[in-house]
Amino acid sequence: MAKRQKRQPGFATQCVRAGDPEDQWGSVAPPIYQTSTFASANTREQWEVIEGKRLGHCYTRYSNPTIRCLEEKMAILEGGEDAVAFATGMAAVSACVLATVKAGDRVVVQRDVYGGTFEVFHRILPRMNVEVVTVDARNLDEVRAEARKGAKLLYVETPANPLVHVVDLAGIARIGKECGALTMCDSTFATPANCRPIEFGIDVVIHSATKYLGGHADLMAGVAVARKAYCELLEDMLRILGGVIDPFAAWLVVRGIKSLEPRVRVHNENAMACASFLASHPRVRVVHYPGLPGHPQHELARRQMKGFGGVLSFELDGTTRQASAVVDRLRVFRVAPSLGAVESLALQPAATTHSKLSPEERQAAGIADTLVRLACGIESADDLVEDLRQALDGRRGSR
Ligand SMILES: *Cc1c(COP(=O)(O)O)cnc(C)c1O
Repeated sequence: MAKRQKRQPGFATQCVRAGDPEDQWGSVAPPIYQTSTFASANTREQWEVIEGKRLGHCYTRYSNPTIRCLEEKMAILEGGEDAVAFATGMAAVSACVLATVKAGDRVVVQRDVYGGTFEVFHRILPRMNVEVVTVDARNLDEVRAEARKGAKLLYVETPANPLVHVVDLAGIARIGKECGALTMCDSTFATPANCRPIEFGIDVVIHSATKYLGGHADLMAGVAVARKAYCELLEDMLRILGGVIDPFAAWLVVRGIKSLEPRVRVHNENAMACASFLASHPRVRVVHYPGLPGHPQHELARRQMKGFGGVLSFELDGTTRQASAVVDRLRVFRVAPSLGAVESLALQPAATTHSKLSPEERQAAGIADTLVRLACGIESADDLVEDLRQALDGRRGSR
């Protein structure tokens, strides 16, 4: 008897359905278990739940069915064995790092990681007597040379903020295996719709679900996806450190993920439209977007990513004040940090997020004073391009 091969559902179908529980009423939207605690029939059953000898939940810092729904969805979407959800992206980053390193270890981290992550590595870990080495993760020879000196952890982020650098995940995973280091990738900018780091051999994938997974700038959340045994370590960390996601926020992330695939497709298209427009504008010196053929890692991005993401940045040919004026003239783009929302957002890193760095540090990081970062939303592409045009041309009067 020829048996039909079981067909894997497509990614968009998985976003909508994977991990959703079936309840007795046929509820189409997953139910919310907005509770801190769970009752058992008696003391013995409560003990069995606590010991994991009986299926059930006992206290939401330990586990909750709504949070579990988010974790099962993310494990499937990233192609991992399991996932653990957190209250914020930073709760996920810090729990993953603290679950991995101990005093005396050496870790290798990419230079242009997210600001909060940078502080975990450069302010928290040195206090614990962990040696932290910074590398340009685009340069695999540099990464290998440092990892070979006995690294416990290799931490990267791709694409990275604000110059949208792309890191070769297969290369990083290979070095991790050669050197016996655990590899971690913050994949917030990509989402599993654009890139799935586990397919390239990365051990742990981290997300700020505050961004594209939630997708609507209305919640804070984080997720880590990894092998089952590592997720058990993370759950243990989470119970102790306590950065647990609220069930309602978990429910909102699940709801956001249901539309992840079509949303990310539009984010990708809009960023490409803005990048192409900016690349041809006389007031723009350079555009950083891996979707442009001129981007130094365009070929790598094409191999590794399905789409190039919603974030890009550009340098204005002008002064710091003129760059601020361009940002301030934008009307469809709102002036705000963060990314991954349906709303388009813009900011000038040197004047805001990176203002604490000295001019020399900014220069070393490649962040020009006139750099503007755009996080494209899902509005009509024409409106975004037109907004950039009027802001660059200064037609609304200079402010
Ligand atoms: C926002 C962000 C974080 C931190 O996430 P929070 O949810 O704000 O704690 C970590 N990594 C990247 C790449 C981010 O963009």
